[in-house]
Amino acid sequence: MLACLDLEGVLVPEIWIAFAEKTGIEKLRLTTRDIPDYDQLMRGRLKILAENNLKLADIQAAIRGIAPLEGAGEFLEWLRAEFQVAILSDTFYEFAGPLMAQLGYPILLCNFLEVNGGGRITDYRLRQEDGKTKAVQAFKSLNLQVIASGDSYNDTGMLKAADAGIFFRPPETIIKEFPQFQVTRTYAELRAAFLTARESLLKCRGH
Ligand SMILES: [Mg+2]
Repeated sequence: MLACLDLEGVLVPEIWIAFAEKTGIEKLRLTTRDIPDYDQLMRGRLKILAENNLKLADIQAAIRGIAPLEGAGEFLEWLRAEFQVAILSDTFYEFAGPLMAQLGYPILLCNFLEVNGGGRITDYRLRQEDGKTKAVQAFKSLNLQVIASGDSYNDTGMLKAADAGIFFRPPETIIKEFPQFQVTRTYAELRAAFLTARESLLKCRGH
C-alpha cells in the first residue's frame, strides 16, 4: 500500500506565497487554491517574474528560507514507517531541493522549469499532463493500493484516482465542491484518516 502526498499546503508552506511576501508582489500570492487552471496560473506567474526582472535564483533564495509546516517532519517520519510514500507535486525540481533536504529526501515526482542563460525562467515543462492523477493510476497498475492526501484543486484528480482520498486543510470552497473526501485539519487527524483508510482497504481485500 502506498501513500501519495501533495507537497505545498500539506508538508511545506506555499512556495509562491512565501515569494510574494519576500518581494511584496501581491499578485504572486495566487495559488492552485485560487485558480484551478494550472497553465493560466503559471502563465500569469511567468509574466509577473518577467515584468519585475525576477530570476530563478531570487525564488531559490526565498525557498532556502522556508521550513516545513510545524509537525510536518514528524508526520512524514511516521507515515514512512507505516507506508511507502511518494510526494506528488505540481512544483518544480528547480525549487524543491532545499525542502526535500529538510524532509529526508522522499520520492518526489514534479515538473521542470526552462531557464535561459541569464537565469530567467522562460517557460515550464510538465513531466506529463495531469501528472498527479497519472502517477496514482500508474501505481495502481503495479497492483498497489493508494491512499492520497492533498489540499487543493490540483489534488482532486489524484484523490479520485486513489483507493482513498483525504483532504488536509482545504479551503471551504473546495470542501463544498468535493464533499466525498474526508477533511482533516491536523496531522493527528491525518494520521488517523490514513490508518482508517488502510483498515477498510485491507478489509475489502479480505485480509
Ligand atoms: Mg497543495
